[in-house]
Amino acid sequence: MKRKRVNLDKLTTIRLKGDVLLGILDSENDFESLDNGFMIGCGSNILVKNRNVNLYKLSKKFSFVEIINGMLICGASLRISELIRFQLQHSISALEFLAGVPASVGGCIYMNAGAFSFEISDRLIYVKGFKKGRGIVTISRDDIDFKYRESGLDDIIILEAGFLYERKSRDVIENSIRENIKKRIKNAHLTNTFGSIFKNPKNLIAAKLIEDVGLKGLCRNSVCISDKHANFMVGKGLVDIDDALFLIDRVKDTVYKSFSVELEEEVKII
Ligand SMILES: Cc1cc2nc3c(=O)[nH]c(=O)nc-3n(C[C@H](O)[C@H](O)[C@H](O)COP(=O)(O)OP(=O)(O)OC[C@H]3O[C@@H](n4cnc5c(N)ncnc54)[C@H](O)[C@@H]3O)c2cc1C
Repeated sequence: MKRKRVNLDKLTTIRLKGDVLLGILDSENDFESLDNGFMIGCGSNILVKNRNVNLYKLSKKFSFVEIINGMLICGASLRISELIRFQLQHSISALEFLAGVPASVGGCIYMNAGAFSFEISDRLIYVKGFKKGRGIVTISRDDIDFKYRESGLDDIIILEAGFLYERKSRDVIENSIRENIKKRIKNAHLTNTFGSIFKNPKNLIAAKLIEDVGLKGLCRNSVCISDKHANFMVGKGLVDIDDALFLIDRVKDTVYKSFSVELEEEVKII
């Protein structure tokens, strides 16, 4: 397996300061030899606290996309932007609601990413992955216990997935993508962020709670709670992890004191 030290601003969409050891996984031998490191996709929902952690990413070999037997088959390291481009080229409607999300297919399945009332699990047929001790396994969607921003797929490396799709005209697909991206730009941010900080508590909206306690726009040195969407954090350049963690603690503490609501992080803190 190839390993190298990589700057974290290249591995995280919030652009963290510092560097970390990254292993690139290319084969079953690589999967088998994994130690207790942490698998990442595009780093669009992670914060790295432990600089001694070993991070792993799938190689480009897993960024394929094709249509086989009436299914849209994607490798787990395929970027959503590449998938959307493929959908447009082939007039395929499937995961347009994720347009603009700077993530990988594998990361989106692990997180059960969703937007505009859809979740990736709604379209999923199967996941293929590597499980230590068992090798390559294929799991049908019905055997995965998807929940809000959770797949429970903790013990496998996701390698591939099959999705349902429909044929639609390129214009219809393009319009839907444009509309979705427009909404994202209007309501939140596309860069220098890791997406939602917290999950929405049952029947509540995390952004509203943060706004109501007056913390929208609060900054700590290199990073701020967005003044556009209070459940987003936006970096001013390279972000110091301590600044991001300070804001997370401050928000949790203040919301709890005001409303007795415990916010749970959506972002994965490694
Ligand atoms: C601008 C922006 C907009 C966003 N909008 C949305 C949105 O609308 N809806 C939404 O749900 N999220 C959104 N997010 C958050 C984020 O994109 C999602 O959580 C996404 O699913 C993370 O994918 P990733 O490839 O970046 O994974 P990472 O952030 O790298 O990792 C996330 C988790 O997935 C696991 N993982 C990644 N790849 C694999 C794999 N191959 N096998 C096993 N586990 C794996 C990691 O271990 C980690 O626990 C947004 C983020 C940004 C920056």
